[in-house]
Amino acid sequence: MTEELFRDDSYLKECDAVVTAVGAGGIELNRTIFYYNSGGQPGDSGILTTADGCKVVITDTCKERGTDALLHVPEDGAPQLAVGDAVTAAIDWDRRHRHMRMHTCMHLLCSVIEGGVTGGSIGDGKGRIDFDLPVIDLDKQAIADEINRRIEENHPVVSSWITEDEMAANMDMVRTMSVKPPSGQGRARLINIEGVDLQPCGGTHVGFTGEIGPIRIGKIENKGKHNRRVNILFDE
Ligand SMILES: [Zn+2]
Repeated sequence: MTEELFRDDSYLKECDAVVTAVGAGGIELNRTIFYYNSGGQPGDSGILTTADGCKVVITDTCKERGTDALLHVPEDGAPQLAVGDAVTAAIDWDRRHRHMRMHTCMHLLCSVIEGGVTGGSIGDGKGRIDFDLPVIDLDKQAIADEINRRIEENHPVVSSWITEDEMAANMDMVRTMSVKPPSGQGRARLINIEGVDLQPCGGTHVGFTGEIGPIRIGKIENKGKHNRRVNILFDE
């Protein structure tokens, strides 16, 4: 099992680690700050550097299907690492920070629009959420104004852990209908944007909503009878 340092501190840009496995799919470490592709948030990219200065560019991070191994995917032709190699793992922080800003913004969007969440995805500088809603008029400007107000109010974003039993007793917190929050280790992670939104989530978030910066609403699409897709962009 890889220790997932990004869960408790999403601001770690670098950590020391040891290679525990090297397979066709990628490299496993004993601990990592690389977020793996899940919950609609892309996996991190970055660089693993060995003690003698050898650099391995990582293009993606994901879980291996079936085994649950956390894989750092090297670019084609990268130098081979060996089990036991000590490395410094550094993420592409600018890209990750944009994911953190947009991911936190997705929570604000959830707090503005009523309706179950059926899907969502975060890209570089953009994001979208599918809501289980009938065909109704959604006012783009009003939604953007409400989100931008919550951003300007600079609410703290706090993570904590609860037991799975506590979670099961509070399922009304769960906004996502298709994506189950991370579980299976006896505990679940809660993200509380104080006074705004509380939900289980395993992703990476900024510490205060003000860090997101201004946003605007892009297209609102009808993806089926009961599916409104709301697109969000950084307004910069
Ligand atoms: Zn989240």
